[in-house]
Amino acid sequence: SDDVKRQKIVQKLARLQFSASTVRKIQDVFVSEMNKGIHQQPSSLQMENTYVPELLDGTEEGLYLALDLGGTNFRILLLELAHGTPIREKVKKYHISSDLRVGSGIRLFDYLAECVSDFVIAHGLQDVELPLGFTFSFPMIQHSLDIGILVTWTKTFNCPDVVNEDAVKLLREALDRRGDTKVKVMAILNDTTGTLVQGSTLDHDTAIGLILGTGSNACYLERADRVEHWETERHGEREVIIDIEWGAFGDNGVLDFIKTDYDRENDANSLIVNSFTFEKYISGKYLGEIVRVVLAKLTKEGLLFIGDHTPGSLLVPGNLTTDLISDIEQDSVDGGDSNTKEILMKFGIVPDEEDIKIVQYVCEVVSNRAALLVSICLAVLLKRIDKKNVTIAVDGSLYKHHPRLETWIKQYIPLLAPDHKFKMIHAEDGSGKGAALVAAIAQRLH
Ligand code: ADP
Repeated sequence: SDDVKRQKIVQKLARLQFSASTVRKIQDVFVSEMNKGIHQQPSSLQMENTYVPELLDGTEEGLYLALDLGGTNFRILLLELAHGTPIREKVKKYHISSDLRVGSGIRLFDYLAECVSDFVIAHGLQDVELPLGFTFSFPMIQHSLDIGILVTWTKTFNCPDVVNEDAVKLLREALDRRGDTKVKVMAILNDTTGTLVQGSTLDHDTAIGLILGTGSNACYLERADRVEHWETERHGEREVIIDIEWGAFGDNGVLDFIKTDYDRENDANSLIVNSFTFEKYISGKYLGEIVRVVLAKLTKEGLLFIGDHTPGSLLVPGNLTTDLISDIEQDSVDGGDSNTKEILMKFGIVPDEEDIKIVQYVCEVVSNRAALLVSICLAVLLKRIDKKNVTIAVDGSLYKHHPRLETWIKQYIPLLAPDHKFKMIHAEDGSGKGAALVAAIAQRLH
């Protein structure tokens, strides 16, 4: 009967829902990994020093460039600042062919430099000294604000010849080979740092940057005296932005106690197996796939889509994207079923009412787990920062478009960090504007 079936399904998904003691364990492991990372002991958290020691002070003026690589689009921005505030912005997207994304890194950087020239010359700025901030959203080791060694390519990029090289040096050399502009590369950062800095222009209490898009990462303002990895001379900095690189949280196995068979299969279907463990639980690239894996399993076990149809294309990895999860979740919010039906029909499935409920339930459980995991880590950060008010600046399409993540996160954090006041704001385009802003900070500190 339906009741027995429902009970079975609830049981099968039970491990995706955490008990209070599992939540505490995740919390403890995150704290411990953060401490190890910051003390330079082996840890799945890189806790990278970004060397961004302060935010804008309101004196920044003039034109700044930003180059944004690693998101969905490669973009160049020109930002005009007056009193540390953006007053004008020009953006252009450039296409990077899949052919350029995998292969020679030198060729890729030559193309980036070509785009910079094209943009700068189009604005008639070839003779102007333009400070540039480079958003390079890949894991890197930073030796200073303008030295970032690429640790590994991720997402759709793979140019092995430049792994372990300094991305700033590669960009400067490519710009020099052209020699047709006066662009000065001042800083390298990732989208998370850009988001924090961009958020700080909207809300002065901003102390955490969070990305929930294709991937996920967070950074925060740490007390400088707690930071051991600091290769440049110190100048009495009180704080510095630490890039946690939390996408890799658990890559060393410390989070295995939450891993289910669904996660193992999601991992097996991913581009780089056994890495980005945490990201695979929470980010846009993977939530749809986890749901798909669960649905495929339930189908094979005879608990779903029992009619005379076969969910053929739903069995293909990658076929259920996270934007569809948002649409199904919207049905749950509205108490409706039209999106869910439409999506399943596109897969050639004619669902009955029970099927629809089950699909919605799976999307809810998988989405909710992501919200709880993010909340657990954010709550740990709030406790660590320990300021009266902390604003969390967020960017990324998953956060923006998923109809329930934000609501859940705002509900969970007060339960997990009851003594800490926080706000969440959208920092649109932190990876673009933020880079130009960091270039301005770097220019001032120079
Ligand atoms: P980036 O690639 O720089 O992270 P975005 O922040 O725009 O760029 O994130 C894009 C990702 O967000 C997509 O890969 C997809 O996983 C997810 N996404 C896009 N639209 C939606 C949506 N409506 N609901 C949930 N997730 C979405």
